[in-house]
Amino acid sequence: MRFVCDQMLGKLAKYLRILGFDAAYAASRAALDRYRTHEGDRVLLTRRKGASRFAKTVHINSEITREQLREIKALVKPAVSANAVFGRCIECNVELIEADKMDIEPLVPEFVYHHYTRFKICPSCKRVYWEGSHTSGMTALLEEMLS
Ligand SMILES: [Zn+2]
Repeated sequence: MRFVCDQMLGKLAKYLRILGFDAAYAASRAALDRYRTHEGDRVLLTRRKGASRFAKTVHINSEITREQLREIKALVKPAVSANAVFGRCIECNVELIEADKMDIEPLVPEFVYHHYTRFKICPSCKRVYWEGSHTSGMTALLEEMLS
């Protein structure tokens, strides 16, 4: 299941990426039109009312991310793959790759380098992820999402 989030749902897109989903963010009407033309199989998540020409559209009511996640929980939860969780860059929507500890030394704080053994890197923006690099607030929200 792939998603595209419209203007008002950028934060929700990031949470979907943490869960491992390909969740694009359309920052403008034109970007959304491009996704509809080329990747119309994505599920559109939107706060706008009215019809859309995506194969499936889910209207989100709340302005609060935590509530938005609750609104889509029934749809999303069965599709979560444990292997994919924390496997995607939250900024770029790109799948992370395993990184050698040696290679990421200059890219992370010294404390992190010494306290963690497994690292992943985004091939696009070079951001490094490790166990614990997501805030505890985020993790709690995701646990709630998956419980
Ligand atoms: Zn990235």
